[in-house]
Amino acid sequence: MTDYDAIVIGTGQAGPYVTSRLAGAGMKVAVIERNVFGGTCVNTGCIPTKTMVASAYAARVAARAAEYGVDVGSVRVDMKRVKARKDAVSRQSRTGLEDWLRNMENTTVYDGHARFESAHEVSIGQERLHADKIFINVGGRALVPDMPGLREIDFLTNSSMMSVDFLPKHLIVVGGSYIGLEFGQMFRRFGAEVTVIEMGPRLVGREDEDVSSAIQEIVEHEGVAVRVNAKCLGFAKRGDEIVASVDCADGTPRVHGTHVLLAVGRRPNTDDLSLEKAGVAVDERGYVVVDDQLRTSVPGIWALGDCNGKGAFTHTSYNDGEVVIANLLENDPRRVSDRITAYALYIDPPLGRAGMTEEEVRKSGRKALVAKRPMTRVGRAVEKGETQGFMKIAVDAESGAILGAAILGTGGDEVIHSILDVMYAKAPWTVIRRAMHIHPTVSELVPTMLSELRPMDSPR
Ligand SMILES: Cc1cc2nc3c(=O)[nH]c(=O)nc-3n(C[C@H](O)[C@H](O)[C@H](O)COP(=O)(O)OP(=O)(O)OC[C@H]3O[C@@H](n4cnc5c(N)ncnc54)[C@H](O)[C@@H]3O)c2cc1C
Repeated sequence: MTDYDAIVIGTGQAGPYVTSRLAGAGMKVAVIERNVFGGTCVNTGCIPTKTMVASAYAARVAARAAEYGVDVGSVRVDMKRVKARKDAVSRQSRTGLEDWLRNMENTTVYDGHARFESAHEVSIGQERLHADKIFINVGGRALVPDMPGLREIDFLTNSSMMSVDFLPKHLIVVGGSYIGLEFGQMFRRFGAEVTVIEMGPRLVGREDEDVSSAIQEIVEHEGVAVRVNAKCLGFAKRGDEIVASVDCADGTPRVHGTHVLLAVGRRPNTDDLSLEKAGVAVDERGYVVVDDQLRTSVPGIWALGDCNGKGAFTHTSYNDGEVVIANLLENDPRRVSDRITAYALYIDPPLGRAGMTEEEVRKSGRKALVAKRPMTRVGRAVEKGETQGFMKIAVDAESGAILGAAILGTGGDEVIHSILDVMYAKAPWTVIRRAMHIHPTVSELVPTMLSELRPMDSPR
């Protein structure tokens, strides 16, 4: 048995930060990784997908080059080079992180699968470690539900997609939400036929209806076929083809494709940690139950990142690390509930989101004002020839607080931060309304949009 001050399980987005801060404070820390360093974001999530989104964007701009007065001849995507570029970017991030951890003072890296033996003991194979403080950062993986015929076909997930170095003839994407739409649009841009099948009545059902339908328009405009209301999904192999029965309210009942990507959700990697030996409580879906400061049901054990169900993003995981460290080392009682919902959907153009949706504001029953502006009325978007989407913002009619915003349009993932930071500052919308922004940018129209606020339920 080796004694440590702290054990960190997993090197996702929170683990390395927590390790470095604890080790930097002089604690003896063990960090355990069973697979590759950096977890989902670095290896099978954000970084590789955004690298591929960039290749897909290049293909799209090249295909549209004539619209800008540029002749490029015929455009061909070399999937092997797309993958090689993606691999190189991921590798740089992964090896950088691994080297950093392996060379970190006061830190010992263990390669292997960690399991709890008790509340303060963890095993990795035959090895046993003990610490008073244990941090679980084990992340999640693709959810594979029991769908008829699914086990009889070779389906892909976000992880196995990383090995694809060829162009599928017809990619069927099951799941019309964040991950499915990114892959769907990108493979369409690479040249594949793509059908997105969504069980719900609309794409990205968590967003407002106008956001959903604008997103559907964007992907359909590029030739992605969208099938919603696919209530009764099933799969069968027919020679080289895969047939998905969709049972949609309208349209043909079957989709014939060559490859299937399953993107219907995530599940936490908590089922093989022996959490029961430590007495750590999980909810009915396997997420570790934590309080507002990420303490589990067992004193001395914290859970951070996707495995606690409090967020599903790299920034929420990293922020979890900051919350825990602020409480432990900085005498700063930060809480998860201090943060404002913020995320992006990386189709092109992207959706940047902050705070509540319009629907959530409506349901909250407060008096609100809303403003909306199509990207066709944003000079920067017109100049770039990227006028799809719109931006909108909702504010509290009484306090002036900004309640939420959605920027679906070119630069939307960046522009949203100008609103998010004002929300963090707890300043009223009038602060942005009076600000002088730079011309020509998408952000310059945010103050203008705010001059057009109207009561939420009045006709637009
Ligand atoms: C396709 C895709 C695209 C995404 N794009 C974005 C994006 O653009 N922006 C964004 O913010 N988020 C994005 N996400 C989400 C983001 O990747 C995750 O929210 C983030 O990586 C979560 O990090 P984490 O710290 O919870 O754990 P992870 O990054 O999942 O890391 C967990 C680590 O723990 C290790 N581990 C697990 N169990 C054990 C064990 N028992 N013993 C030892 N080690 C173990 C794993 O091997 C892994 O390395 C995307 C996700 C996917 C799938």
